[in-house]
Amino acid sequence: MEKQVIIITGAARGIGREIAKTLAKEGHIIICNYNKSKEQAIQLKKELEKEGIKIEIFQADIMKQEKCKELVEYTLEKYKKIDGLINNAGISKTQLITEVTKQDWEEIINTNLYGAFCMCQQVSKNMIYNQKGWIINISSIWGQVGASMEVVYSISKAGMDGMTKALAKELGPSKIRVNSIAPGFINTEMNNQYTKEEIEIIKKEIPLEEIGQTEDIAKCVKWLIEDKYTTGQIISINGGWVIT
Ligand code: NAP
Repeated sequence: MEKQVIIITGAARGIGREIAKTLAKEGHIIICNYNKSKEQAIQLKKELEKEGIKIEIFQADIMKQEKCKELVEYTLEKYKKIDGLINNAGISKTQLITEVTKQDWEEIINTNLYGAFCMCQQVSKNMIYNQKGWIINISSIWGQVGASMEVVYSISKAGMDGMTKALAKELGPSKIRVNSIAPGFINTEMNNQYTKEEIEIIKKEIPLEEIGQTEDIAKCVKWLIEDKYTTGQIISINGGWVIT
């Protein structure tokens, strides 16, 4: 398969890190964005270098439009093209609607939705010029069915899925595919607030009786990259927790 230049946001930890490792091992050129997790980003780079695999790490707070621009400009200057973008960076907060402050709203929406939008806007210029490319948005089960006490998160992920569908239509004629992967409960730091007992209860609600692993998402990304005819879709990876 042709070597592709791929930007992954929030790739020092969790799902993004697993996707970065999987795609780097496939021989692609990976630009791993991180924001606060500098040590983990350096450690990932070193871990892969031991296996003879090179990746780029790039600090940028994707809430800021100018930082998204810098990330894309750096990639284009060095590699002259962008084949793929994975909007993975995201934050969540569990709270009642009555507790949500303007700052909570701005942090969640600006990271999960505006940041992803800015990244799409920046990369699509080059992809349209090249008449090829793909974007994968990591949304969430909660964007599809809504989560109690996570109203802003649910709004952000539903917005992301709306963006996926709109961009699939707008960018399709330029041969750019845009899809969402909507994970269910995946074993990462994002779910650290749950106790073992709570996780057992959640497992009982899932038909496959297991929570997901980061590898489950990375495998789907790998498949989507190789695929040529899937666009505008929200692909649920949730063990059957929600079947729409
Ligand atoms: P995680 O372990 O908490 O990682 C979140 C990642 O987002 C980190 O790499 C973090 O980077 C990055 N990030 C946050 N704010 C950022 C910003 N302003 N700029 C750049 N990067 C930023 O969570 P995860 O479970 O891997 O989640 C990855 C994605 O999957 C998220 O979009 C999440 O909503 C989605 N998802 C997760 C689950 C789940 O159950 N885990 C389920 C559905 C959807 P730094 O550490 O460098 O700041």
